[in-house]
Amino acid sequence: MEKRLKDALIAIVGKENFLDSIEDRICYSYDATNQKYLPDAVAFPGSTQEVSGIMKIASRDKIPVIPRGAGTGFTGGSLPVQGGIVMVMTRMNRIIEIDNDNLIAVVEPGVITGKFQKEVARSGLFYPPDPASLEYSTLGGNVAECSGGPRAVKYGVTRDYVLGLEAVLPTGEIIHTGARTMKSVAGYELTRLLVGSEGTLAVITKIILRLIPLPEAVRTMLAIFPEITQAAKTVSEVIRSRIIPSTLEFMDNATIRCVEDYLHMGLPVEAGALLLIEVDGEKEIIEKQVSKIDELCRKGGAERIEIARDEAEQEMLWKARRSISAAIVKLNPTKVNEDIVVPRSKVPDIINALHGIAEKYQLVIVNFGHAGDGNIHVNIMTNRKNKDEMERVEKAVEEIFRTTLNLGGTISGEHGIGITKAPYLKWEVGDTGIEVMKRIKASFDPNNLR
Ligand SMILES: Cc1cc2nc3c(=O)[nH]c(=O)nc-3n(C[C@H](O)[C@H](O)[C@H](O)COP(=O)(O)OP(=O)(O)OC[C@H]3O[C@@H](n4cnc5c(N)ncnc54)[C@H](O)[C@@H]3O)c2cc1C
Repeated sequence: MEKRLKDALIAIVGKENFLDSIEDRICYSYDATNQKYLPDAVAFPGSTQEVSGIMKIASRDKIPVIPRGAGTGFTGGSLPVQGGIVMVMTRMNRIIEIDNDNLIAVVEPGVITGKFQKEVARSGLFYPPDPASLEYSTLGGNVAECSGGPRAVKYGVTRDYVLGLEAVLPTGEIIHTGARTMKSVAGYELTRLLVGSEGTLAVITKIILRLIPLPEAVRTMLAIFPEITQAAKTVSEVIRSRIIPSTLEFMDNATIRCVEDYLHMGLPVEAGALLLIEVDGEKEIIEKQVSKIDELCRKGGAERIEIARDEAEQEMLWKARRSISAAIVKLNPTKVNEDIVVPRSKVPDIINALHGIAEKYQLVIVNFGHAGDGNIHVNIMTNRKNKDEMERVEKAVEEIFRTTLNLGGTISGEHGIGITKAPYLKWEVGDTGIEVMKRIKASFDPNNLR
């Protein structure tokens, strides 16, 4: 990077918040996709004004600026594909306010999701979005990706909790969207446009979040099925019975084996699939729901059902779910991770189709995910160095996306498009859809720097 530019950036963030040695740049060259693109420099702004200052300089010199939270993204959105400045938001990590009267919070983007949840729980409040990465990922990253998690089936995703934003445009201008109120229809809904925009339109510098009361009680259960199709059909039956669990997660046999091998917690490695189900709310109501779900699982063919008796047992069941990502990479070093969604009633169809695709292309495909909202994490476990296998992986991914769209689904439920799914976006939104998105982008980022 030119000295003139480096000096200008250091004048904004301070020497200690600017990195450009090769060793430091390598540390910010990758995310959870494991693809690598080297930035020219890394800056850590400490305020909205500093973000704005960086953007103005970058805009003047036509340099890309890539916002980054914790770098846990699965689609490469934080990667500096064309070089430029990686702007890491983790210094802006204050919970500015928890407003108990209005049930809202105002935060900076670098706050870690799990830390925020614990903090609001102290006031008897609840922020439901729970990506499995919540111990590391930032709220800014969650907003940029519109992240979801197991609780989305009942509580929705990040978008459903964002009331307003402060953001800095690529030109350096600062905008405020939405309001601190539960309702607002003043002007275009820019908040919703920015949520899920993956850092391509603006850098989020402040977030107003809606909170809800913490549920009185939670019950967690595990149902083990000999056949995967039995589990998939039971998911549809539970939803059809008008019970919306707070989570309804599923793991196939390959996932169960990996997790058991990783944790040694006594999971049934011969089982076709298991469902991890949680209900929350008033004690009396959830007890009734637990017995109804128990009945539906047995009817659906479950051969074993475990109901957690206390928080420690609940935590153990969740440990299995949260360990999946780490456990499955033991199968093969490269994980091609898709997060398709189908209408809930189509879960059995997509599971059957995925098995067929794995067989057709002779690939190891591990499936788990948020069955309750039709969001299946399809993980093709492969080795990037095996060229022949990677060609088959590409064909399999195309067939998975085509099948998903034919079933009325979407190619991404929560991980975003980033660089990994960009070639497929037009299959879902069409050429005109892409064109409209480009026009929106141009109004935020006239120099197309991101
Ligand atoms: C083990 C594991 C489990 C995961 N589980 C889930 C899951 O259950 N559900 C889920 O939805 N995702 C999951 N993810 C993906 C990832 O954690 C989420 O996408 C998360 O929201 C990314 O947050 P981050 O802070 O790491 O953002 P980064 O990865 O750093 O960035 C993600 C995107 O957000 C943009 N961005 C970051 N901060 C800002 C900002 N302040 N302003 C504008 N743009 C910004 C970046 O440019 C990039 O495009 C998982 C990832 C891992 C590694």
